[in-house]
Amino acid sequence: MVRGLLCFGGFLVAALIAYSFGSKQSGGFDLANLLRPLPEVDESYQRGFRSDAIAHINRARVPLNVDQAGVDDDIQTFLRAFVGEHPRPEEIELDVVFNDLQSQFPGAQYLAANLVTSGSREELLGKLAGWTAVASPDFNTVNTAVFTHGRRLGALAVMARRIPAFSLRAANEEGGRFFNQCPHCGKVHALEVEKESRTLILSCPYCELPFDILAADTSGTIKRAPDFFDGFKLMEQPEVASQMSSEQRIMALWQRITDQCDYQLDQDHSDEKEREVWKNSRQTWDEKAGDCEDTSILLADALISAGFEARVAIGWNGNIGQHAWVVVKSGDRQYVLESTLQDNITLENLVIASKAAAFYQPEQLFDRENLYFTEADESDFRRDYFSPSLWRKLPVRNDLKAPTLSLR
Ligand SMILES: [Zn+2]
Repeated sequence: MVRGLLCFGGFLVAALIAYSFGSKQSGGFDLANLLRPLPEVDESYQRGFRSDAIAHINRARVPLNVDQAGVDDDIQTFLRAFVGEHPRPEEIELDVVFNDLQSQFPGAQYLAANLVTSGSREELLGKLAGWTAVASPDFNTVNTAVFTHGRRLGALAVMARRIPAFSLRAANEEGGRFFNQCPHCGKVHALEVEKESRTLILSCPYCELPFDILAADTSGTIKRAPDFFDGFKLMEQPEVASQMSSEQRIMALWQRITDQCDYQLDQDHSDEKEREVWKNSRQTWDEKAGDCEDTSILLADALISAGFEARVAIGWNGNIGQHAWVVVKSGDRQYVLESTLQDNITLENLVIASKAAAFYQPEQLFDRENLYFTEADESDFRRDYFSPSLWRKLPVRNDLKAPTLSLR
C-alpha cells in the first residue's frame, strides 16, 4: 500500500495509489515474510531506518540534480509521537497529518506525506525511494516513523521544506518563499517575494482577497504603500484659508502640486526593462516630477496634512488603463482628483466620485495608516470610497517586531 499526499504552499494535491502488496511478482503467497520475525521497533531501529530512507532517497535525487535531503528533528519528533498515539497507524489519514503538522509548524508549507506498508524493511525503503515527491526540489528534509501492523511493517514518511514568516525585512534581505497568515480568513499560506519585485499586490490563495500592497522605492527597497507618505505639508495662509470653502482649499492645494510637478515615468532604468518604482511625497515634490502614484501620494499627503480625509486609489481608468488617483472627502461629498492629467484646476475638474464611477474603477485604496480592500459590488464601491461597509480597513503591520502568529 502506498498513499501519497502533497501540499505546495496551500495548494493541496491528493494522490491515492493502491498497490498490491506483500506478494512477490508471482502473486503467490509470501511464506518467507510470514515466517520472518518482526524486528523490535525501538529508538535505534527508528534512527537506522530514517538514515537508510534518506540514503535511498538521496541516491534517487543525485542523478536528477536535486539537492540532497536532510532531517528535520522537530518534524521527526512530531511524527513519532503522532504514530505512537494512533491505535491503528496503518489507517492514518494523511490530511490529518498535514493539518496537525501545519498547525504546529506554520512554516511547513511544502509537504508530502506517504504511508507505506510491507512485509520487509528493504521493500519499505524501496517504496519510499520510488515516491514521486523524492524528485521534487521543493522538499529538503525526510522524516519517518516506523510501526508494526500485524505481521507487517509500516512507515509514515513526510518530506518537507520549512519557510520563514513573511516580513519586509526578510523580503528585502534575501527574498524568496515565506509563510503568512491571511488577515481576512486566518489561514496560513505560502508566498514568494523576489528582491527585484516592483509593485506587488499580495493576495491570499484561499479567500483570494488582497492583504498587502508592496512597492520598491527608487533605491530598490521594498516598502508598504502607506510607508511612502511622509507627512508632507503645504503651508496655507490661515487668514486666506479661513475665508475659503473646503472645495476652494482642495483646489488650491491641488493646483500647487500640479504647478510643481511634471508627469514623468519612473526614472529607474538601471536594467533593460523599465521598472516600476514609487517615490515618497517629499521626494516627488523636490524632484518636481513623478508618475501617477507618485503625484497621487504627494497630493493625498498634502490634503491629509491640511486636515482632509484623503486616500490614494489604485485601479483601472477607462481611458488610461492601470492607474492611480486621489479621492478626498469634504462634508458628505467625495471627489476624485486626477493628479497627472490637468494643468489648470477649475471647478469642473472637481468630479464627484459617483459621477466618475464609469471611468474610475478602484481596486485597492491606502492612506498613511491603512490599506483598504473591498468585496462589495462594484456598482457600490466605485461610488463610495470611504464607507466602512464597502471598504475593509487593514492597518499597516509593523515588521520591526517579530510577527506574532495566533493559530486556532
Ligand atoms: Zn484569506
